[in-house]
Amino acid sequence: MSKNYNGFKIDPWGSGKLEDEDYTRLIKDFGIEEISDNVKLKLFQHKFIRRKIIFGHIDLDLILKAIENNQNWAVMSGIKPSGPFHLGTLTTAMEIVDFQKLGGKAYYCIADIESWEDNGITFEEAETTAIDNLADILALGLDPSPKKAYIWRQSKEPIVKDICFRVSRLVTQNMLNAIYGERTFGLYIASLIQVGDILLPQILDGEQPTVVPVGIDQAPHLRLTRDLTQRSYKTFFRPASTYHFLLAGIDGADKMSKRNPNSYFTFNESLESIRKKVMGSLTGGRRNKAEQKELGGEPQKCMIYKMLIYFFEDDDKQISEDFQGCVKGELMCGDHKKQCADKVLSFIKKHRERKEKLIDKSKKLLHLD
Ligand code: SF4
Repeated sequence: MSKNYNGFKIDPWGSGKLEDEDYTRLIKDFGIEEISDNVKLKLFQHKFIRRKIIFGHIDLDLILKAIENNQNWAVMSGIKPSGPFHLGTLTTAMEIVDFQKLGGKAYYCIADIESWEDNGITFEEAETTAIDNLADILALGLDPSPKKAYIWRQSKEPIVKDICFRVSRLVTQNMLNAIYGERTFGLYIASLIQVGDILLPQILDGEQPTVVPVGIDQAPHLRLTRDLTQRSYKTFFRPASTYHFLLAGIDGADKMSKRNPNSYFTFNESLESIRKKVMGSLTGGRRNKAEQKELGGEPQKCMIYKMLIYFFEDDDKQISEDFQGCVKGELMCGDHKKQCADKVLSFIKKHRERKEKLIDKSKKLLHLD
């Protein structure tokens, strides 16, 4: 843990675009394995694996083995209640739902200690957002029944604090500085609380493989957790992880950011505003129709195409037709943007209808009713 990963722009709390070469370097330095054909075959139902949005993993074979042998396994993820659910939070949310559908018990954390330390949001202020965020993930399909899920707020869960204290005696300021750069102690503590979040499934329900789906920017947290698990909880499984590509801002900005409202949309904003943002997204289209017809577009650079493959088009055949239509110059950006906006709005409308009915359930699950 001697390298300063901050030196090349990996920051779990911050900004900074990752270039292709950063991915290559991070994959090597963090020991991330490529998704093998075996994994692809066994997890074919998982859309993000099939579509190569998840590009790598550590120890996913443990999960495959548990599935094969019908043994217990867990998937752990969470959300920082610092604002409404938005496009940038959708990838991990869909991943936990997909892994739960594959048979894992879902452990979902409301990271209110982190939202205090990172954003200055008090636990009380975070409650309303937490209810709203949890209703969103329930509407996305998370099954909250006790056999299939465990949901907690960090500030109210003694287990995660106990783990934080237990592992802390093995952690020096130098170690944290090497992993995260110089930060407030609050953020260091939040990262040790997160070790607690990731180990909670094994404390609560016994030793079992646990997968944590994350973006590459969260790799330092996973490295710290694996290291501390090995040293503090010797019989536990070291957490497995999957890594997805981070989605850039839809307007072409390096990253989705609250400072740039056109780079993303929340699930709570007006339909009109969402449509406007989708229609204003960066495409991989040419300067005009004639050039598009002659040269074809570049879907790999296009945020419309990316939004569809990540979230809003379930039909693999349609995705492939869009790709072909684009590169052959048969599909025009104006038409495609409109089709995409219609799909996004239809998704959001149905989502809101489901979510509305789940607010009371969310309050109950968080003990805030
Ligand atoms: S045709 Fe569609 S996929 Fe191709 S660049 Fe335009 S918007 Fe993107």
